[in-house]
Amino acid sequence: MIVVKIGGAKGVNLASICQDIADLKQQGEQIVLVHGGSGEVNDISEKLGYPPRFLTAVSGYTSRYTDRPTLEIFCMVTNGKINTMLVEMLQKVGVNALGLSGVDGRLMEAKRKEAVRVIENGKQRLIRDDYTGRVETVNTALLQSLIDSGYMPVIAPIAISSDNEALNVDADRAAAMVAGALKADQLILLTNVPGLLKEFPDESSLIPHIDKTKVEQAMAFAEGRMKKKVLGACEAFNLGVAKVVFADGRVEHPLLDALAGKGTVIS
Ligand code: ADP
Repeated sequence: MIVVKIGGAKGVNLASICQDIADLKQQGEQIVLVHGGSGEVNDISEKLGYPPRFLTAVSGYTSRYTDRPTLEIFCMVTNGKINTMLVEMLQKVGVNALGLSGVDGRLMEAKRKEAVRVIENGKQRLIRDDYTGRVETVNTALLQSLIDSGYMPVIAPIAISSDNEALNVDADRAAAMVAGALKADQLILLTNVPGLLKEFPDESSLIPHIDKTKVEQAMAFAEGRMKKKVLGACEAFNLGVAKVVFADGRVEHPLLDALAGKGTVIS
């Protein structure tokens, strides 16, 4: 079982990833896809006249400020457009993909961040109308029943809270939870860089291998959104996943290359 996460960063070669998935499935691999959509959510938010805003938490992590209108745009773009287009691409190469978000059948339940303490212009402020959360449980039985029925799940990064609100969740960490729930052999995070770079953005500073016991130290190199991937890797290992790969989604065979050991392999 392989869980693949496709980022929302620009430049990722979706058609090639879908072709690799089709080839691997032909060889009998089980694959579940989780996707993001940050770049496209930003573009469409701008076009709709509701530009994206970002929050920097006191902990240093940055996230999309997801008020109610933003949540609706987020659902429209990730679960509406991106999810459907990925399913279309996979169907074209003969994979019977089935798209859903974590809201469907309570596939992913998340804890809503009640209040986010943010830093704005050097001052701390509490934000209370933010619809973001962190996935806590995955409905493994639902996922497994789809897989057993011959479908390949394609999951949009939206979860449901205990109060039945849809929440924007980080796709890297959601993928880690899905990988853990399925006891996946590997979690592959495809993005628009060759892997974790020691000196970002110098691509020649790629770190080829990290011992999984030292993954937290790798956080020192990660900036911005890359931190979420390292955090996701830590969470996947805690849930028993054996191997996490950060790999380049822009190349001709993103998934086959990642499985062949290209990128940053953490094991
Ligand atoms: P995705 O949408 O594919 O998940 P993100 O934009 O969330 O991608 O994360 C990938 C980005 O992380 C890269 O495009 C790069 O700008 C940034 N980044 C920050 N630090 C690093 C690093 N040390 N190595 C590689 N990428 C990094």
